[in-house]
Amino acid sequence: MFELMKLPYAQDALEPVISKETISYHYGKHHQGYVDNLNKLVKDTAYEDMTLEEIIKESALDKPQGTNEQYCPGRGSPLFCNAAQVHNHNLYWESFRAEEPVGTGMTEKTESIINKQWGSVDRLKTSIKTAATKLFGSGWVFVCKLDGEDAFQIRTTHDAGTPLTSDSVTPLLVFDVWEHAYYLQYKNDRAEYIDQLWSIINWDKLA
Ligand code: MN
Repeated sequence: MFELMKLPYAQDALEPVISKETISYHYGKHHQGYVDNLNKLVKDTAYEDMTLEEIIKESALDKPQGTNEQYCPGRGSPLFCNAAQVHNHNLYWESFRAEEPVGTGMTEKTESIINKQWGSVDRLKTSIKTAATKLFGSGWVFVCKLDGEDAFQIRTTHDAGTPLTSDSVTPLLVFDVWEHAYYLQYKNDRAEYIDQLWSIINWDKLA
């Protein structure tokens, strides 16, 4: 049985950037829903004893079928979509920190890699915002590390997509750009939501 991860902070700890109300729905309803669906789907199957990562990789090439349409149209089986959404949301909540001072904590090494990759931290932020606002529909913007190299890469996915299905990168941070992540507070302004997230980002995750 998979369980909903424990949040690393209180539900009101990311106010005002992410409100308690947003977290109560996003974590308490959406994320919980993916966990519940996943448990129903793996019950009494060979997937029951696998880790989340194993299920995602094993099911990545499954064809959409049957009831899939209600979960994740055209983007893999219900099993893949729900497992990947659990994993994506775990990473999303871990991408933020509530302790003061927020938005700091970047190591010199991380900053130097960011500078090498993007020129400056501001240019990384601009690249993320561009990727997020250009993403049509629902999806995710990841900052990944290229395996075996001191280099980062921005990857976007649609729906439940995750870079885990690629062998060459490790996702470190993620920005959820499904409307449920921001609509209660930011309405249609996805760019403003992304801008605000930087003040609570957990740079330790990159470090
Ligand atoms: Mn979400």
